[in-house]
Amino acid sequence: MLRAILSDIHGNLEALEAVLADLERERPAALACLGDFVGYGASPNECVATLRPRCEAAVIGNHDLAAIGRLKLGGFNSDAAAAARWTDETLTDETRAWLTQLPYSVAWHDTRLVHASPAQPEEWHYVLSPHDASLEFESFAESLCLIGHSHYPGAFEFDGKDIRYSRVPELALEKGRRYIVNVGSVGQPRDGDPRAAYLLWDDRAGMVRHVRVAYDVDRAMQRIRDANLPAFLAERLRWGE
Ligand code: ZN
Repeated sequence: MLRAILSDIHGNLEALEAVLADLERERPAALACLGDFVGYGASPNECVATLRPRCEAAVIGNHDLAAIGRLKLGGFNSDAAAAARWTDETLTDETRAWLTQLPYSVAWHDTRLVHASPAQPEEWHYVLSPHDASLEFESFAESLCLIGHSHYPGAFEFDGKDIRYSRVPELALEKGRRYIVNVGSVGQPRDGDPRAAYLLWDDRAGMVRHVRVAYDVDRAMQRIRDANLPAFLAERLRWGE
């Protein structure tokens, strides 16, 4: 069965709508979201309202937690903190209530879903290297764990002995091996490719596919400027950094 996994939407409605249009063509049976629905972008309520009815499963991200006032902003840079305060003021009660009830970690069709790291989902560790990944594989029972947070799509493959990192667009999931796959970011890619990123997972074919979708970056940038959010948050969308 084909399933879609989206993460790090960050209030970017233009990117989200482009991804959902792409999904109309792919027709996945279900969709899950790995958090950071809001923060940075200018359309937090719209993004949550759009995704809520479509998400079969969802977890909370650190920017969601910051926006509902439950994460100290000390670990955020000044632009991220300014965006978190703006988002806090902008969220409707309905959006806030929905974000508040999201779990940190869930099992979903024999996979583990977390925003940042499966070992300590409330600590927001980045899983960037095989060494980072080696600290995570024991913490979940499933053979596949799907994460976001770093905004870098890629996969760690563990054969029981060694961990290999790859950034190929399509990866075959081999029986007996375990995987941590970062699905990338819909609303603020940081790997130098400004197109929105998401993941398709086909459990029957044993395959994951990283998808990129072009969207109206200029319009998303203009919305950020119109909202008086920090200018850099608009600028980085152009470069995907
Ligand atoms: Zn994020």
